Amino acid sequence: MNPRPKGFLQVDVDGLWAVRACYGRHEGTSFQTDPCWEEGIPRLLEIFNDSSVPASFFIVGRDLELKTKRHIARQLLQDGHELANHSYTHLIGLTARPLGVIHREIRKTDRALRKIGATPVGFRSPGYDIDGRVLRAVRQIGYLYDASILPTPWVPLLRVADAWLARKLPEGKRQFGRWVYARAPRQPYFPLRYRIRKPAKDPLEQRLVEIPVGVTPGLRLPLTASALLGCSRQQLRQLFERLARKDRLVLLLLHAIDGTDCSKPIVFDNRRPRLAGFHLDGEEKEKRLRRIVEEFARAFEIVRADDHARAMMDGVAAP
Ligand SMILES: [Zn+2]
Repeated sequence: MNPRPKGFLQVDVDGLWAVRACYGRHEGTSFQTDPCWEEGIPRLLEIFNDSSVPASFFIVGRDLELKTKRHIARQLLQDGHELANHSYTHLIGLTARPLGVIHREIRKTDRALRKIGATPVGFRSPGYDIDGRVLRAVRQIGYLYDASILPTPWVPLLRVADAWLARKLPEGKRQFGRWVYARAPRQPYFPLRYRIRKPAKDPLEQRLVEIPVGVTPGLRLPLTASALLGCSRQQLRQLFERLARKDRLVLLLLHAIDGTDCSKPIVFDNRRPRLAGFHLDGEEKEKRLRRIVEEFARAFEIVRADDHARAMMDGVAAP
């Protein structure tokens, strides 16, 4: 039997306040009293630890202003997981901002992560909004990889689904990246400086690794846990086996809200849409997440993205 291809498990630690902001809802008390951190992250951590798989947690720096959240973040580190950078204020539309804002969003989180003992080398832009400018800022801080490109042709549709969920029309919200990224490679590569969806062949240009978010075979839908919560174990096994046969490195993306009890309408105030797990309670989510993680770990050898990016930069790992 061939060895299993490598895979990454990554979590965007969007607090409830950040999720609510994404859908145009007021923050209220959701920064201080944040079930995504208090319940979602510990639940995901337990599932990963039970399966003995390493994961990368992308932290929004502002959350580390709170002692309770710093404590949870340290626990992730202690358990052998990677902490990475997901901007400071979860600013959607980073590519539209001045360079100063981009640098500040990245550097402030970098400092906050180092203060709790992490050595971050990876970045994902909020809402997958990435371009050459943001990527350059990521490289200038000395990071090894970015993981913001979503190589799917469904960006317009995803934006419509998002607006439907929010019951609001997006106001120029730059989410899910750009349509041209549909043609980006579907496994880690060294992006060209000015055309980041293209791989750089010149070794001198190979100064940062891009790890695209996984997509399903065929339709190329984003490989996110929220989209897989409705799958049976057998469907998951088939999907991951099909992906593994392509012998590509695959990134499965989770979010803190995936592990958070939604038996009360915590995001949309008075509704619990039957989509992406917004209608499921904590126990049900735990059951479904366990089978997603177990089946993913069955088909792929889970490795940390920082280790893999380092090996690629050193020229000792094939993409
Ligand atoms: Zn996010």
